[in-house]
Amino acid sequence: MFKNKNDNRKDYFEISWASLRAMVEPSFAERSVINHSDYLTNGHIVTSTAVNITESEVLTAQGDLIAYDYLVVATGHMESFSRTRIEKLSQYQEEFKKIKSANSILIIGGGPTGVELAGEIVVDFPDKKVTLVHRGPRLLEFIGSKASNKALNWLTSKKVEVIFQQSVDLNSVSDGIYHTSGGETITADCHFLCTGKPLSSAWLKETVLKNRLDMHGRLKVDEHLRVRGHENIFAIGDITDISVWLRFILT
Ligand SMILES: Cc1cc2nc3c(=O)[nH]c(=O)nc-3n(C[C@H](O)[C@H](O)[C@H](O)COP(=O)(O)OP(=O)(O)OC[C@H]3O[C@@H](n4cnc5c(N)ncnc54)[C@H](O)[C@@H]3O)c2cc1C
Repeated sequence: MFKNKNDNRKDYFEISWASLRAMVEPSFAERSVINHSDYLTNGHIVTSTAVNITESEVLTAQGDLIAYDYLVVATGHMESFSRTRIEKLSQYQEEFKKIKSANSILIIGGGPTGVELAGEIVVDFPDKKVTLVHRGPRLLEFIGSKASNKALNWLTSKKVEVIFQQSVDLNSVSDGIYHTSGGETITADCHFLCTGKPLSSAWLKETVLKNRLDMHGRLKVDEHLRVRGHENIFAIGDITDISVWLRFILT
């Protein structure tokens, strides 16, 4: 198992949809951050960054060559990460302290992560002033407007201030004053950037799979999740060109 482009020596799996709850309730992460060795008891785990693929081998950043008969690429998104489970759990403790000690919190990004984080904070800390700034015209733009209105109504009912069609200039923050592209100022004790992570596929551009990437950097797969043109290479998860909706149906 290969776990980040820059350095992926991560020895645990994280249930990512539990991660925002873990920010307001760090003990939650005890169950959602799991050492690979706890569930892959018969597997051989290599904690390293994969940097190249040939027809029969994978090269790691440490210079090891790992032979394969079948290969599954599942490198999803780039992560800023803690290397060990213990480090990850203490990162959640730090984020929790940051939230707990703040009276006002700015969330940048109105996609699933920003909306969910705002929701988690106001449920556990209803007295905190939460402001969410989103560049787009509505929350959760990848779903229908009825659902995004519902999310907006729920957040505003919890007194979250939602500002649309503006971005925040993080280079000009000073003494808790944030400036938006629309000329507004927001006062907040801290902020969380929830603007999405890039796909981790740049490393594939120099490999045998370089011609199998679409314009968004996703691997093109067939109905069996086989990378097109490769009998023994498969790809799963966010790295594939399968639409998000179809992935929901398949899982
Ligand atoms: C906050 C949040 C909430 C979510 N909620 C939901 C939800 O409710 N329902 C749902 O269906 N989905 C949800 N998702 C999306 C879901 O987490 C992703 O679809 C899923 O994690 C994709 O899994 P993956 O294995 O393809 O990629 P990832 O989870 O991105 O994992 C890829 C792994 O590969 C590693 N990697 C990257 N490049 C390399 C390399 N070169 N070498 C070695 N390792 C590498 C990365 O460090 C990472 O550990 C949520 C995501 C987030 C962030």
